[in-house]
Amino acid sequence: MRRIRALVREKLAQGRLPKESCQSVNAEPGIGSLCTVCDLPIPRSEVQVSCTLRVGAVRVFHRACFEEWRSKIRGSA
Ligand SMILES: [Zn+2]
Repeated sequence: MRRIRALVREKLAQGRLPKESCQSVNAEPGIGSLCTVCDLPIPRSEVQVSCTLRVGAVRVFHRACFEEWRSKIRGSA
C-alpha cells in the first residue's frame, strides 16, 4: 500500500495519471489488463476497476490503486 501511494504521487506529478475524475466507474473481474498505477496485470481473481474519463479514454486499475488515485485527485481538487 505504501508503494501504491508513492507511485500515485509520482505519476500525478509527472502527468502520467489523469487529474480529472471519472465520468463513470465499473468494477468487474480482471482480464489481465495492465493497471494504470502500478503497471501490473489485473488477474481474473481480482477486481478490475474501469474509469471512463471525460475525453472518452478508459483507464483500468486494481481496486486499491484506484482508491488511492481517487483519494489523491479529490484531495488536490
Ligand atoms: Zn495496480
